[in-house]
Formats: sequence, structure tokens, C-alpha cells
Amino acid sequence: MAFQKAVKGTILVGGGALASVLGLSQFAHYRRKQVNLAYVQAAECVSEPVNREPPSREAQLLSLQNTAEFDILVIGGGATGCGCALDAVTRGLKTALVERDDFSSGTSSRSTKLIHGGVRYLQKAIMKLDIEQYRMVKEALHERANLLEIAPHLSAPLPIMLPVYKWWQLPYYWVGIKLYDLVAGSNCLKSSYVLSKSRALEHFPMLQKDKLVGAIVYYDGQHNDARMNLAIALTAARYGAATANYMEVVSLLKKTDPHTGKERVSGARCKDVLTGQEFDVRAKCVINATGPFTDTVRKMDDKNAAAICQPSAGVHIVMPGYYSPESMGLLDPATSDGRVIFFLPWQKMTIAGTTDTPTDITHHPIPSEEDINFILNEVQ
Ligand SMILES: Cc1cc2nc3c(=O)[nH]c(=O)nc-3n(C[C@H](O)[C@H](O)[C@H](O)COP(=O)(O)OP(=O)(O)OC[C@H]3O[C@@H](n4cnc5c(N)ncnc54)[C@H](O)[C@@H]3O)c2cc1C
Repeated sequence: MAFQKAVKGTILVGGGALASVLGLSQFAHYRRKQVNLAYVQAAECVSEPVNREPPSREAQLLSLQNTAEFDILVIGGGATGCGCALDAVTRGLKTALVERDDFSSGTSSRSTKLIHGGVRYLQKAIMKLDIEQYRMVKEALHERANLLEIAPHLSAPLPIMLPVYKWWQLPYYWVGIKLYDLVAGSNCLKSSYVLSKSRALEHFPMLQKDKLVGAIVYYDGQHNDARMNLAIALTAARYGAATANYMEVVSLLKKTDPHTGKERVSGARCKDVLTGQEFDVRAKCVINATGPFTDTVRKMDDKNAAAICQPSAGVHIVMPGYYSPESMGLLDPATSDGRVIFFLPWQKMTIAGTTDTPTDITHHPIPSEEDINFILNEVQ
């Protein structure tokens, strides 16, 4: 859930499912200013009931066009962008959010669906005595509990089984997983436990019977990433954010900052992908939350900007539901090349993955034969 601040000017680059907007508070003094200027009156809307109908797309487009200046314009309607928009609008900032495709059509609908506390990061924190990794796990565990509480219709605890094939690994993993429970403290979903070989085989009969020693079961969360993302976008819209999909940012607007004399980003030129119509959306702050397309937008600001995004592709495959029990996942912590593979129940099917291979950025990535075979081999 990294969140990188201000690469240049007022552009912020987001990179996490639930990032909150750092530095937004400096805009808080804009609250309630200019509310009569435009259609969007975010500060006025915050106290209104959140269950009112969100405005139509046409109304949202009018808001985008007719608002003289937003406090915040968020580019990208994935988890990061929608999270930023909801955070901003509920702080009383006049907020706009544009997404060039459907909300959550990017990475945010293609995740492994886990709400991790980050058991592997805890291992790193301990092995390398890294306090930052520890803090990240602590925060992730807190967010995990938070998501399960605020959106129980879209998320649930999921037991995950770790098969153990060597005796010495049993106490090793057990201690690690117990520490995970301990760090979670009151946010622990359920205590982890050890399973005998026969019970483990009851859950996953296709495990290697002769080598299996037993298993450890721990709890993480699972959620519907795409629906969660959409719910956040809708909530932001209900609070008064001007929110439109099929609206692509094609260039950034600039103006000279009267205080510094330097050019700074002051909004974006947006294109309605459905009609081809273009117009400008002005904002005091522009947030770049375009995920893998981060550098494309950064280059709109400065065409010589060095790339900061290192894209890699993760592939899942979907298998029939009978490969996993309905309410338990499986984790292989050490595949043949050291990667972790999950095997998870998902909407009456089983998803297995993921890979992690360097890739070029494309709008609609497709899995390579090699990746599919890697997962199938590991699963076997
Ligand atoms: C294989 C894989 C598995 C993962 N599993 C998990 C998991 O189990 N749990 C977890 O918490 N996280 C997981 N993650 C991480 C998580 O999915 C990402 O952190 C998150 O989805 C990133 O969201 P985002 O909003 O930053 O990016 P995206 O969801 O990619 O959103 C960026 C959006 O910007 C839009 N956009 C781009 N350019 C423009 C433009 N010019 N104008 C307008 N809009 C634009 C795109 O259309 C896109 O919708 C996984 C990631 C991968 C790759």
C-alpha cells in the first residue's frame, strides 16, 4: 500500500488499494469557499445522507465542465483513485474523479481478492529487524479488520491452509503464524491452528499423501475487489464528488504559480470516450492514480520524466470449484522458483495464482502460455 507523494508539482502518484491522501489537509482551508460558483458543492454535501441516489452521468459531466475549479482532480478510478476521491470529498474538498474505462476495470478487478495482513512481510520484518516492514504489517492488519467491519457484504475472513512436508517446518511455520496472530492483537480474525495429516487431506485430498506431515491454518480476509471499488466510487459520488467513467485525461493543464513563479499543473483536458467531446477540468491539485499508467500521465507533465513504474504481470487461472473446499484456501509458500501460489475458493470456482513476471503495459493484458503452464505445474 505504498503511496508516493509529489513526483513533481502537484501531482501525486498512488500505488495501493486503500491509500489515503497524504498532504490533503493542506487544502482543508478551501472548504466552503467558492461553493456558489459551480455545480459541485462538496463541502455542503458532506452532512447529507449518504444513501441518496448518485447523480446521472450526464449530471456528473455537467459538474465537471461547469465547476470553475475543483480542489482535487483524481485521475484513475481504481481502488487508489476512488479511495482518494472518497477521502477528499469527505474532508469537504471539492472533488472530481475521472476514469477512462469502467471503474475498477484495471488492476483493481484482477487481484487475488485477499485482504492481506502481510504474513510474508512479517517474516521479513523479523529476519531483517526491519521496523518499517513491521509497521506496514500492523497497518495492513488494522485495515483488514476495518474492511471486514465496514463492508461485511463484500468481504469475509478466509482460513488458509499451509501444507507442511517436513517435520522441522511445523514448529517454524507455527511460530511465524502465531506471531502474525499476536501482532494482529484485537484485530486477529480467528486464532491459527495446526491440522493433522488426515484432517488436512480431508480438506485437500489431492495433496501428496506420502510426504505430507500436517498443516497450519491461519486467517486472512477475502473481498470482492471490483464491487468494493465500485461501492467506494458510488459513495464518493453520493457525498458530492463529480465522478465520471469513460472520461480519459489526454493532457494536463498548466499555469504559473504566483508564489513561486514556476509552472504548475492546474487541471486536465478530458475526453469523453463515448462521444469524443473534450473539455478542461481545472483543479488546485491533481492526483495521478492511474496504476500501471502512472508514467504516461507523468510524461504529460514533463516529457523527460524518468519512468518510476516497473510493470509486472500477475496471472490467475480459474478452475472448477471442486478443486478447493468452499471455505478454505491453500497457500504454497515455496514454489519451484520461490514464488508464493494461492489456491482460493472464489464464487463457487477455484482461482489459482499468481505469477509475477515483467511485462509491457497494455490496456487488456492476456496471460502467456508460459504463465498458465507454470501455475498448472505448481498446482499439480
Ligand atoms: C496479480 C495481482 C494480484 C493482486 N492481489 C492483491 C490482493 O490479493 N490483495 C490486495 O490488497 N492487493 C492485490 N494486488 C494489488 C492491487 O490489486 C493494486 O494495488 C490495486 O488494484 C491498484 O489499484 P490502482 O487504483 O492503483 O490501479 P488500477 O486499478 O490499475 O487503476 C488505475 C486506473 O486508471 C485508469 N487510467 C489510466 N490512465 C488514465 C487516463 N489517462 N485517464 C483516466 N483514467 C486512466 C485505468 O483505466 C485504471 O482503471 C494485486 C495486484 C496484482 C497485479
